[in-house]
Amino acid sequence: MPDMSNKKYEANEQPADIRRHNFKEVTLSYDKETAIKEANRCLNCKTRPCVSGCPVNVNIPEFIEAVAKGDLKQAYYIITKTNTLPAVCGRVCPQELQCESKCVRGIKGESVAIGRLERFVADYFRENYQIEVPKIDKSSDKVAILGAGAAGLTCASDLAKKGYDVTVFEAMHVAGGVLVYGIPEFRLPKAIVQNEIDGLVKLGVKIETNMVIGKSYSIDDLLEMNYKAVFVGTGAGLPAFLNIDGENLNGVFSANEYLTRINLMKAYKEDSSTPIMKSKKVAVVGGGNVAMDAARCAIRMGADEVHIIYRRSEKEMPARVEEIEHAKQEGIIIDILTNPVQIIGDENGWVTGILCAKMELSEPDESGRRRPVTIKDSNFLINLDTVIIAIGTSPNPLIKNTTKGLDVNKKGCIVSNEQTGATSKIGVFAGGDTVTGAATVIGAMGAGKKAAEAIDEYIRNGCKNEQ
Ligand code: FAD
Ligand code: SF4
Repeated sequence: MPDMSNKKYEANEQPADIRRHNFKEVTLSYDKETAIKEANRCLNCKTRPCVSGCPVNVNIPEFIEAVAKGDLKQAYYIITKTNTLPAVCGRVCPQELQCESKCVRGIKGESVAIGRLERFVADYFRENYQIEVPKIDKSSDKVAILGAGAAGLTCASDLAKKGYDVTVFEAMHVAGGVLVYGIPEFRLPKAIVQNEIDGLVKLGVKIETNMVIGKSYSIDDLLEMNYKAVFVGTGAGLPAFLNIDGENLNGVFSANEYLTRINLMKAYKEDSSTPIMKSKKVAVVGGGNVAMDAARCAIRMGADEVHIIYRRSEKEMPARVEEIEHAKQEGIIIDILTNPVQIIGDENGWVTGILCAKMELSEPDESGRRRPVTIKDSNFLINLDTVIIAIGTSPNPLIKNTTKGLDVNKKGCIVSNEQTGATSKIGVFAGGDTVTGAATVIGAMGAGKKAAEAIDEYIRNGCKNEQ
């Protein structure tokens, strides 16, 4: 008999007043006993609605059934048939909008905690077993993957399992993309990302770091070097700015720079070679996951007061509900219906404040969200020493500027076929944030998977007609 309790079993969390002073993980994994209880809430539905909500089609009822039986090794192998990065997805996927939103248990109560179970299985496997590398028939056909983020790593993994000779070219000195330089340690420990990357290396994937494609080699060079196909998964790392006065002052950061210094370069450690200023009062502009992460990092770096400035209401905030709640619990102040007008500085070029206007919401705009309109004569000043801008990113134009015949859209995103990732250039496929603009980890992984299938077909077809 399934467990018919209407609520998910809770996962432990570090208390807010403690975690706001450290970078350790906020939410803890289930223990085995709780995971089995939660798995028993699953009805093992024949129609499997939850699977339709998963962009990489994890066989959710089957893995949960294995958890319920206590067969955690089997559960892990079921998940990893379609998901290369389960410990990552179990932590950062917006399950409430995906698999869990389709779960029938959600009709009368809370859905099954699919994300927590996925994370538990991945963590349990990592702590108790060694990955068994499957026997692969190797081919001599080479494929180049540009970018070692979620999209590139997934594509690389699937192609390596099919036997291809795969090399990932990564611009940074470490692999992982946003998973290592963007999402903070307290949401996604870097050792976990590294463990998943080590699994790929065991599959035979070669990762070449410090290789900026467009500078070290161009895509055309790679095709001439006998790579049969190229997958572009270079993300959307170019930050957008507000274009208001004062953005060049000292103490104004893009969220990208701020988070990279803290997460990748470990600026919170005393001996870090890439320090970051110790702020007293900080404003983060934006309402997405990136803004929440920047604000929560600022509090952990010792700021006395951190504000999030967002021009719509909380309902329209794109960040995950869980992240907004965590931010509030940690003492972050959310100033909704507020829009920056000017950043103010002193005679030495340092930020001293941000001038903001009050907003109200009118009719929905093209994004479907109600348009914010400035309330006349509502300007007010917040005194502070740091401003972090987290209002979005777009792809770096380097790839476009150095590749003949590669089409991009008005936003600078590579145009590619949604089903195959095929671009306007023969032999070149693309997916993830470089195609969609800033989106989700699982979306990028889904695109990497589809492209791997299409690349395999393209190469087996004699490198023609991939469309
Ligand atoms: P990336 O992860 O950006 O990887 C691209 C890689 O390509 C990078 O390593 C980059 O260095 C490399 N590269 C770029 N140019 C070149 C070049 N010319 N040559 C070689 N390499 C190059 N999503 C969620 O689902 N849940 C979340 O909670 C969440 N939180 C987020 C928090 C932050 C702070 C950020 C920034 C994003 C967050 N996202 C979240 C979004 C998610 O992380 C991304 O959508 C996803 O990781 C994109 O993967 P990708 O592989 O397309 O790109
Ligand atoms: Fe289990 Fe929910 Fe999926 Fe049904 S929809 S199989 S209850 S996880």
